[in-house]
Amino acid sequence: FIAMILFFEDSYDRIRDLMDESVQNGDDKEVKKYGICFKDVEFQYGDNKIINRANFTADQDAVTAIVGPSGCGKTTVLRLLSRLYDYDKGEITVGGEDIKSISTASLFSKISIVFQNVELFNTSVMENIRLGCKEATDEEVLAAAKLANVDDIAAKLPDGYKTMIGENGSKLSGGERQRISIARAFLKDAPIILLDEISASLDVENEMEIQSSINKLIKNKTVIIVSHRMKSIEKVDKIIVMDDGKVVCAGKHEELMKCSKLYGDMVRKSQLTEDYIY
Ligand code: ADP
Repeated sequence: FIAMILFFEDSYDRIRDLMDESVQNGDDKEVKKYGICFKDVEFQYGDNKIINRANFTADQDAVTAIVGPSGCGKTTVLRLLSRLYDYDKGEITVGGEDIKSISTASLFSKISIVFQNVELFNTSVMENIRLGCKEATDEEVLAAAKLANVDDIAAKLPDGYKTMIGENGSKLSGGERQRISIARAFLKDAPIILLDEISASLDVENEMEIQSSINKLIKNKTVIIVSHRMKSIEKVDKIIVMDDGKVVCAGKHEELMKCSKLYGDMVRKSQLTEDYIY
């Protein structure tokens, strides 16, 4: 039994750590407005301060992009907004309500997240999409799948939408997994949409299909996009430039090209990588 006791000790420590985590509180309430505001927000992972007095607003029904050097805290901003982590200081509001006063269930019901690393489960394509809205009928799931161009994927699979896709979708390519997660977001139809570097793992063909799905998805929604493809965000309503955990400036592409050296440098570097020839 000695070996088993040693094994249990590790499990016990992990469970203890989880039990020690603070519970995220908040009331179940219906948020009806979706403008987003970060006010002097601070956050650290352990001792490492990542977000340092960040201030910005993202308007309702508008597309806001966050850009900045790698590691400056862009993904962390999305995690804080969706309460995957709780901010330490300052305030984050959605529709004027502090997100810490809203229960995670109420908040999640208003937010769809499409991250670069998609979480899929070892069940069928159909059930993976249905996770976006558990009560959805088969017809609704298929309609969402069509909008995200999942039809082509299902057509190639032996059992169509009923095919089991392996642990975390291991039988699918990165682009295919991403399309399934976009179908989930269509099905959920949440008013706030967070997109994180979604084109990073795609080839050209997949990217074109996803682009058209995404454009349908974000119509009339409050959207925040994190992207390193500067060209793709030139036309959005507002661009937030982050550096080292702070928001250094915000505005439209043309304004930022004139007043932000960091933004101008990023645009030029991005053009260089696009023009790269082997
Ligand atoms: P970006 O999206 O701008 O590239 P991130 O928000 O992902 O940056 O990360 C900002 C910093 O936080 C990085 O230095 C990263 O190493 C660190 N970081 C990210 N996630 C964690 C985590 N779960 N635990 C500790 N540090 C993290």
